[in-house]
Amino acid sequence: MSQMMFEKVAFIGLGLIGSSLARVIVANHLAKQVVASTRSQKTLEDAKVLGLIQQGYENPIDAVQGADLVILALPVRATQKVLETIKPYLFSHAIITDVGSTKGNVVEAAKAVYGDDLPEGFVPGHPIAGSEHTGVHAGRIDLFANHKVILTPLPTSANWAVDKLICLWQAAQAEVICMDVDKHDEVLAHTSHLPHLMAFNLVEQLANREDNLDIFRYAAGGFRDFSRIAASDPQMWHDIFFANKKAILNAVDGFEKQLAVIRQLIEDEDSHALMGLLGHAQAARQHFNHMLAKSPLMENKKVTTQQFTILPGKKSFKGKFSIPGDKSVSHRSIMFGAIAEGTTHVTGFLEGEDALATIQAFRDMGVSIEGPKNGEVTVHGVGMQGLKAPKSELYMGNSGTSMRLLSGMLAAQKFDSVMTGDASLSKRPMERIAKPLREMGAQIQTTGERGTPPVSITGSQMLKGIHYDLPMASAQVKSGILFAGLWAEGETSVVEPEPTRDHTERMLRAFGYPVKTEGNRISLQGGGKLIATNIQVPSDISSAAFFMVGAAITENSDVTLEAVGINPTRTGIIEILKQMGADLTVENERIAGGEPIADIRIRGSRTLKGIHMPEDQVPLAIDEFPALFIAAACAEGQTILTGAAELRVKESDRIQVMADGLKSMGIDCTPTEDGIIIEGKGKSGEWDAIFTGSEIESHHDHRIAMSFSMAGLRTSGAIKIVGTETVATSFPTFTALTELAGLSIQVSE
Ligand code: NAP
Repeated sequence: MSQMMFEKVAFIGLGLIGSSLARVIVANHLAKQVVASTRSQKTLEDAKVLGLIQQGYENPIDAVQGADLVILALPVRATQKVLETIKPYLFSHAIITDVGSTKGNVVEAAKAVYGDDLPEGFVPGHPIAGSEHTGVHAGRIDLFANHKVILTPLPTSANWAVDKLICLWQAAQAEVICMDVDKHDEVLAHTSHLPHLMAFNLVEQLANREDNLDIFRYAAGGFRDFSRIAASDPQMWHDIFFANKKAILNAVDGFEKQLAVIRQLIEDEDSHALMGLLGHAQAARQHFNHMLAKSPLMENKKVTTQQFTILPGKKSFKGKFSIPGDKSVSHRSIMFGAIAEGTTHVTGFLEGEDALATIQAFRDMGVSIEGPKNGEVTVHGVGMQGLKAPKSELYMGNSGTSMRLLSGMLAAQKFDSVMTGDASLSKRPMERIAKPLREMGAQIQTTGERGTPPVSITGSQMLKGIHYDLPMASAQVKSGILFAGLWAEGETSVVEPEPTRDHTERMLRAFGYPVKTEGNRISLQGGGKLIATNIQVPSDISSAAFFMVGAAITENSDVTLEAVGINPTRTGIIEILKQMGADLTVENERIAGGEPIADIRIRGSRTLKGIHMPEDQVPLAIDEFPALFIAAACAEGQTILTGAAELRVKESDRIQVMADGLKSMGIDCTPTEDGIIIEGKGKSGEWDAIFTGSEIESHHDHRIAMSFSMAGLRTSGAIKIVGTETVATSFPTFTALTELAGLSIQVSE
């Protein structure tokens, strides 16, 4: 942007924040003249040398005369005095803003000077960006880029002033949010002020110890990261703690209460509850990470560098585990619960980023949802007609399931909606669902290039049922159409070229909605209703597969995986492992939420043998092959996979990526067009290391990362797996559970 926005900008205070904004204004030619007033002459001289200001004044009165924008970029405690001084000299239509970290006391200071009749150009603000450095030299032109700036317009603030400030901050590439003053102070007390208070306090606690030198010398990365912000300016934080006293004390009380909870869990050695708490916090943090990346600008900047390291040594692999819930079923439990009549209790919910995006979308549409906490979610259904128009676009993160299924649901609503996603989802094809929905009468547009998101839906008239032959085997498209069919006139039917996952059909029936399945034709009548029910989300067999393989390749292992979903469209892994000779039993089979589940027990009692994997099982185990390749490497003899070309177009080319990794760990294997040949190194009755250590590139494919982690059970050298951050999406407790089982994985960023 290079449009001249201001005649004269006057900074009062020109340190880190002020000089960063001045750099933006100067570089973008946003003002004819920029001046400043600071306490010291030196700052002003330096600012001139840096080319940030044309004039510097000791007296703020000289700076503000004739200025159409005055920016207070100084400690908040100085606000009242400065306003008193400059008030008589301000241009009547000047915009007056500030950058202070607290807002209530800035408004109070202004009221002390002006009374309730505040100038219409007065709009307080706060950039959520900074650093531990201060002063005019610390400023950076990109300090605010991809960060948020909160403006807190008052009832007296004029729209033109707010609009102009929004443009100014946007020129700094910031994302501008408008918020109420009290809300600002409450939010910041929790997200900024409390963390700073904790950092200062922890450093103080450690610094007071006699062995403080050792502690600081050998401090782990965690301490360094956590305490970085304690290097911030003490005077500034002293002021902030007093300025936002009430909200900060509330936040401290909340912290103390939560600290007591975790303290008690440790004292009681309540492993289950502690795991629950940590897992829940981890999932929330990962979801938060995603939300942070919401702005496209930030996505470009996002660099992901997480890696797993597993050290060599003989390991055991034992225990009873609840693997996180199935993702497909987790999504649907929220979607159906939301439009059902009554309250749906969900247990075993997968608290990964994708399913959390679904929860957020329904909250945005006015559905009250409690949790998730320890895998439990309570959805207060609003019925078929109860969804409300979301206030802004619905953000689906990386979740294709959410976007495709919700397309069907939103197409049938009376209100308009827009769905967006992260960079990766924004490249995925959406026309495959939009097309049949249009045939039903929906007004739906894929507004990205080449039929990709955002998906924009105009609140529609009544949809009409259609009969649709699916051109591809896609459970998501099938489900999206069936979803729309719930509201459509007459019958909606879908014919699939080959059977796909039938979780939607099963769960609809569990919610009391009749669905007919005749061969490959699935149909339902619109206009019915769903009755709330309790859903136990089965453990995800695809996630359980890693533990099955881990147990199958480890001597004397004994692992039981509880309540795993054994939907017949998903059980190829069980059949293939059995054919390889694994000691695997399926126990306690039952039905939950319409889905068959069972406990699966695997013991490491005999060496696996290589097989030609049965082609009829390939579609039923398609996601589990990376893990099965690890099993094949530990088996005695050759394993051949054919008929699995689809593996080449998953999140990565799973045949090539696995072959590369296996070779680098000393396994002889040959990738083929539609499969692989692996020469197993196992020997009957022997349990020695099979893999040599290596650095593996996972290509950000979660299943590759988790599969090679299992190789760590039989390795003679350290295994480093790079690009593992995607594991959190499908299996948030993966490393915590492997640790409990006996396989320690170091996670580093
Ligand atoms: P800074 O680098 O220390 O700069 C402060 C500037 O204010 C200096 O130019 C200083 O003058 C001037 N100043 C200090 N007391 C003054 C007074 N009584 N009268 C006139 N000028 C005075 O501080 P900063 O980090 O830019 O912080 C400025 C404001 O931004 C604060 O309100 C802070 O809450 C807010 N903020 C800070 C951060 C952060 O991370 N630092 C983030 C967001 C918001 P001299 O140059 O002559 O010393």
